[in-house]
Amino acid sequence: MRVLLIGSGGREHALAWKLAQSPLLTTLFIAPGNPGTAQCGTNVMMDITRHADVIAFCKNQKIDLVVIGPEAPLVAGLVDDCEAAGIRAFGPSKAAAQLEGSKAFTKELCVEAKIPTAAFARFTEAEAAKAYIRAEGAPIVVKADGLAAGKGVVVASTIEEAFDAVDDNLGRGVVGAEIVVEECLVGEEASFFALVDGAEAVALASAQDHKRVGDGDTGPNTGGMGAYSPAPIITEAMTARVMQEIIRPTVAAMKARGTPFRGVLFAGLMITEGGPKLIEYNTRFGDPECEVLMPRLKSDLLAALIATMEGRLKHEDLVWSDAKALTVVMAAKGYPAKPETGTEIRLGATASDHSDVMIFHAGTKIDSDGRLLANGGRVLAVTGLGATLQDAKDRAYGAVHAIDWPGGFYRSDIGWRAL
Ligand code: AMP
Repeated sequence: MRVLLIGSGGREHALAWKLAQSPLLTTLFIAPGNPGTAQCGTNVMMDITRHADVIAFCKNQKIDLVVIGPEAPLVAGLVDDCEAAGIRAFGPSKAAAQLEGSKAFTKELCVEAKIPTAAFARFTEAEAAKAYIRAEGAPIVVKADGLAAGKGVVVASTIEEAFDAVDDNLGRGVVGAEIVVEECLVGEEASFFALVDGAEAVALASAQDHKRVGDGDTGPNTGGMGAYSPAPIITEAMTARVMQEIIRPTVAAMKARGTPFRGVLFAGLMITEGGPKLIEYNTRFGDPECEVLMPRLKSDLLAALIATMEGRLKHEDLVWSDAKALTVVMAAKGYPAKPETGTEIRLGATASDHSDVMIFHAGTKIDSDGRLLANGGRVLAVTGLGATLQDAKDRAYGAVHAIDWPGGFYRSDIGWRAL
């Protein structure tokens, strides 16, 4: 099978690494990829926002399956365009990707399908939003609608902070914007993943990421500074509850609307005293969660993706390793505000000599002299596997310490809540 994987982050390196192990795979292309994915297949320089170019490549190269890593191409309808051209693509349609693309869409669906989530209201007028906030009081959460790469959410501890967030999104000069104001949920967060084939859903392993840039979960939000799997709070009983109360009703509601969801459904959950509540949906693997999920997946990923596309999940049983996984993201100094790119990274020979350590590339590039350089905010995700989370952590940090990169930094406390 000839596969084209779309994306260039640590998630895509982890996916490429896992796809490359599939007995069903004959050829793997990654567009645009990164120096890490180049070890798993052939990188193709391509502007993936030009769907006609992607389709032309697929026809030329007789691609059997396109696998889409990031959210933007899903929301832009790349799956729909590929399928219209007769090319199979893994991921939700544009209509189904609204679960991630629009917070308002998802909140309305939660009401309709009685899915537990934070109480909320939608606004297009700043004054109305402020009146609601005054009535509800702080803490309260203000969210911009649409894709914001994790930066569109303000958890305001005071009313003034919430007002500022309203003004940022709906203030003078902003046209056509919409915000969601919602109840602040209290509990422990976890990431929950399921494969969904339009009708059936299979739970994947759970994970927990660290969004804040600094140790002790301080500082601004990022795309994610590290993750571990499994998340201890997602017990077997909790998995059953999440499937029953959140995932299956969502799958049924999307099907009933005539926009069945096919792909990876990623629920950001708050496990509250009253049970699991949905914070948000994403419609693809998380990054860096993917970098801890793929090393724990024993089953063939490609076979599972095909079963998902063909509506055969009912008969699919995924096998996971009992090993724990933990990944540490190494970011360029200045991230997330102003990452300094172009600094040299020396991975060292020992770092990747172990089967229980994986170095996934995100924002890296190789210059004309063959040097590895930082080329983005999040640069590497270093994953360790171990019998215990502490073992996994020790392996990951052992490899991180062996990497010579003065231009980078990382959190030193990934996994602290579980340890
Ligand atoms: P989101 O982009 O919706 O995942 O929000 C980013 C982060 O904001 C989440 O990971 C939570 O930590 C936090 N957050 C979002 N909504 C809520 C809420 N209703 N209550 C508490 N925290 C929230």
